[in-house]
This record gives sequence, structure tokens and C-alpha cells, in this order.
Amino acid sequence: MHNSLRARDMAYHFHSQTNPRRHEAEGPLLITAGEGCYVIDEMGNRYLEGMGGLWCASLGFSNERLADVAASQMRRLATYHTFNHRSNDPTVDVVEQIATLSPIPGSKVFLVNSGSEANDTMIKLAWYYNVARGKPGKRKIISRRGAFHGSTVMGAALGGLPHMHESFNMPGLNVIYTEKPHYYRNALPEESEEAYCARLIAALETLIEAEGPETIAAMIVEPIMGAGGVVTPPAGYFPALRQLLTKHDILLLADEVVSGFGRTGKWFGSEACSFVPDMMSVAKGLSSGYLPIAAAVIGDHIYQAIADEADRIGVFGHGFTYSGHPVTAAVAADVLRIYQEMDAPGRAAELGRRLFAALDARVAGHALVGEVRGTGFLAGIELVADKATRAPFDPALKVGALVEQRCRAHGVMIRNMGDVISICPPFVMTPEEVDQLVDGIVAALDDVAALLA
Ligand code: PLP
Repeated sequence: MHNSLRARDMAYHFHSQTNPRRHEAEGPLLITAGEGCYVIDEMGNRYLEGMGGLWCASLGFSNERLADVAASQMRRLATYHTFNHRSNDPTVDVVEQIATLSPIPGSKVFLVNSGSEANDTMIKLAWYYNVARGKPGKRKIISRRGAFHGSTVMGAALGGLPHMHESFNMPGLNVIYTEKPHYYRNALPEESEEAYCARLIAALETLIEAEGPETIAAMIVEPIMGAGGVVTPPAGYFPALRQLLTKHDILLLADEVVSGFGRTGKWFGSEACSFVPDMMSVAKGLSSGYLPIAAAVIGDHIYQAIADEADRIGVFGHGFTYSGHPVTAAVAADVLRIYQEMDAPGRAAELGRRLFAALDARVAGHALVGEVRGTGFLAGIELVADKATRAPFDPALKVGALVEQRCRAHGVMIRNMGDVISICPPFVMTPEEVDQLVDGIVAALDDVAALLA
């Protein structure tokens, strides 16, 4: 037993985003295989994956074509770098496809390995851009409470989730926070969506004026907030935000790590939310999570200023060993081809309609459920103690975690972020599997309601 996979994991593996002491006591959930939209654990239990892993696997867990692409690229050129003018054919292929799909005019693509690195890169580019324009005082970054932008030092600083800051003794990185646009939870009684939106934008303008626009470089936003509770903004929020930031010469950076590549029913979340960012970060769906690759995509106006400044210095001093890695690039390039062949945004919109029809019919009315929300094939279910007053559960009851456990017992994988259940399934699900996912969630909600009664 002490040599089992479980025991070895418990002995040697310091896990991401996990309670280490609980892990020492309870051990891992060991996933040993993937098949279509299912993952299979070491005991042979099959789970319908309603989260694409971590908002990633839009093409499921066992795409053979991608396995072949990776193997053949590894045989041809297994590794190389892109420093000092080097390039390789899969890298050219993937940056061209990303730039062509991007809604940002004249897109240039800087490749990195993770969403966190892509966000770090966007911030460094925003600072560099402002130095290049003779505005080095523009350093502050606006983010939103509840946001998730990754786990590197800057990624965590940008994020507005308390557990990502607490005890890390983070250095001051000039990040300032504004409210997340969460109508259901934060609107005043009787306040219309329009009035709530106007109030948010006015509060942001007050913040910008108090800090001084000449001290602010950029604002970073997830078009649809993921880990913060699948928060869809009120109508009109982003167009008004875009206008306000342009007025104050503040860049708008879209974190499309979750919302990119069809998830919202459009190629990018910014399109679903009717705004054009100055830069965007992409990751996760870019390779369907198959290999670590991500990118910061920037507009031509920013690129030109940065290129002039780097030319003055002699080099652009940023980049990673695996930026433009040929194997990850080859897989991502083929993922993007598959998305285009299948019309990923259209497919996500169609499956999303099926999902929301089932959630509205079978989940929204459930006694534990306050709100069902989302866009495209991305949904959140907010659990509440009292439907009428919207009162949340006592966090000590861990109701969201209970629902997650019961979903697993019913063969369905979702994720709970506190008391919000998130759903972000592969685009290769069948409509019947979408219904099956909702069956599992309904059964889990019934179990937990019975337990709490
Ligand atoms: N941004 C968003 C919106 C995310 O959801 C995540 C990860 O979940 C990240 C950034 C960080 O990505 P990574 O874990 O690849 O660094």
C-alpha cells in the first residue's frame, strides 16, 4: 500500500490550490485516462467532465489527431527557441492563426506558456509602452474584486481573490481594485440593470480621478469572470468602460484565458461583450489544454511604440525559453484548425442553448439555487440559503463543496468556487451528454437539499 500511486502522491506532491493537510489525510483523486468528454479514475470510475478540466479541454480528453501532430512534430523538431530572431514553422502557423482570429486591429502575438505569464506580459508591455511614449508615471493597474488572473507574482496581485493574497506577503505592485459587475449580488434593492451599470462606471471614474489618470497604465478585465463566480456583466458595461478608459488614456486589457476561442459563442469574449481591447491574453482553449501554450496579443498602435523603444535599447528584453516551442505550437495550430472546421463558436452557442434550456427548466427553480447565469457554453449556478432574500449560506456549511462531491458521486465533474457551481464543458459533447450533465447536477442538488433539511 505504501508504494501505491496514492501514497506516493501524498508523500511527494505539493499540490496546486489544495489544502495540504487535508491532502495528507485524504489523498488524491487520481485520474488515469481520458475518453472523449469523460475522465476515468484509477478505480475505473468514469466522470462526465463538465469543466473541461480547468476550463481548458474544449476538444475533450483524447483527440487522436492532436496526439499524432505532437508525435510527428516531436520526431521532426522536438525543441527549439525563438530568441534572437529564431523561428520555426509551427510557431509561424499558430501566431498567424491567432492574429487572424483576433478582433484587435493589426494584432501581433507574443507567445508564452501559461495564462499567468500572458497576463504578466501584458502588464510589462503596458509599462513599456508608456515609457516609450514618455509617460513613465503611468504604472498603476486597475483590476476588479473577485477577478482571477493567475498565480505568478503579478498574476496573483492582479487577482482580487483574498486567498490568493493572504499570507503571501506580496510586494506592493500598484494594483487598485474596483467592484465586480455582479448585478444579482451587488445591485441595490429595486435598482435596474441600467442604473447599476451607470453606478459602477461612475464609481470607476471617481476612482480614476482620485488616483490621477496620469498614474494609471491599464485596466485588466475578464469579459466573463470565471473563477470569481461566472459573472456576466450588465448590458452596456463594457462599451461604457471602453469609452471611459479611452477618455483617460488607460489601456484596456482583456483576459481571454477562459473566454477565448469560441467559449462565449463568439471567437472572443470581448466580441460577446461588445468591446475591442488594446491587448488580450489567451491560453487554456488555445491548445484545448493539451500542452502549455498561451499568448499576449497586442494592437499595432502598441507594438509600434514598443518596437521603436526596443530598437533604441537594442533588444526587447522579455521572453521565455519555451516561447514558440515547436511541439506546443504545432498542437495549438491544429487545435485552431479544428475549431475553424467545427465552427467552435457556433457549436458552443448551440450546446449552450441546450444547456441553458435544461438549467432554466430543471435547476433555476431548485430551492438551493438563487441564479443561473452565463454566456455561450459557460454557466454558473449560485447557491443561496434563501431564494427570496438572496441570503447566502453560512460559508462554514461548505454547501458548494457538498454539491461538487455529490456531482462526482453521480458521475459528473463540475467545480465549486465557494457556493457558485461552474460549468465549462468540452465542445465535443453530444446534446445527450449535456442533458446527462444536468441530470447529475439536479441529483446532487436534491441530495444536498435532503442533507440540509
Ligand atoms: N486568467 C484566467 C481568467 C484564468 O481563469 C486563469 C486560470 O484559471 C489564468 C488567467 C491563469 O492561467 P494559468 O493557470 O495558465 O497561468
